[in-house]
Order: sequence, then C-alpha cells, then structure tokens
Amino acid sequence: MADLEELYREIILDHYRSPRNRGELPPPAHRVEGFNPLCGDEIVLSLLVEDDVVADVKIAGSGCSISQSSASLMSAAVKGKSVAEARKLVATFKQMMSIHEATLDDATEEPEPINLRALGELAALQGVVKFPVRIKCATLSWNTLTQGLDELGA
Ligand code: ZN
Repeated sequence: MADLEELYREIILDHYRSPRNRGELPPPAHRVEGFNPLCGDEIVLSLLVEDDVVADVKIAGSGCSISQSSASLMSAAVKGKSVAEARKLVATFKQMMSIHEATLDDATEEPEPINLRALGELAALQGVVKFPVRIKCATLSWNTLTQGLDELGA
C-alpha cells in the first residue's frame, strides 16, 4: 500500500510540475471559469466540443497542487472522448471523491464499489478523500467541465 501511495504522490506531482493541455483556446472554444473560495483555486477552462466529442480542452488559472494536478489529469482524461464518456468519467470521479462523506453519514451502508480501473491515473487523487477540506480543490476542474458542457447544451 505504501508503494501505491508513493506512485499516487508521484502522479500528482508530475501533473503539477508538468501540467498537460496548459493554456487557452481561441473562439469558437467555450470559456468557463471555476473558483474555489475555500482555498483560492482558480480554473479557466477552454472547451471545444465538435460532433458530441470533446475535441480539445485547455486549462489556465492557478491554485494549490491538488487543484492544478486534478485539472491536468482531467484534461488528459477527457480530451478526445465523447461528451457522454466525459460526463460518465465526471460521475465516477465525483463518486470516488464523495465516498468518504457517504461512509461517514451512514457507516452501516456499504459504499458503491468504484471502478478504479476506469479511472486510470485519476485514481491517484483518491487519497484526497482523507482530507475533506481538499476535496473541493480536487473536484473544482470537474465541476467547471460540467458547467461548460451544460452551457454548451452538450
Ligand atoms: Zn486548493
């Protein structure tokens, strides 16, 4: 388990130091901003949806290592995916992030099993659930993506 945590830490640091899909896209890409006032994290998401596919995505903004590495991981995970696949990934990711709250609320109920394999590198962020104050850092870019897709009617 220690090795796995080490690997997860390395994935998060790698995406923080070398963020993927960094920058902004020119119009007609859709621009949407997300803000996490609890930590001061900002995400500026540029989103290009073509034929129900997330054709391109870029991330700008600044914030803590969790928020920025999560945004980088998100961009790499959804780029080139269909809108339906991207939304499904958002749901699975948010399920992973909420499981701690769910188990706290009702300890007698077994949490839904999560398909960690479907999450790939994103599973690296599961350690964040141990620090509830950081969960909003990790989910910021995902909520911003959902907002962008909603605004596009995608
Ligand atoms: Zn943060």
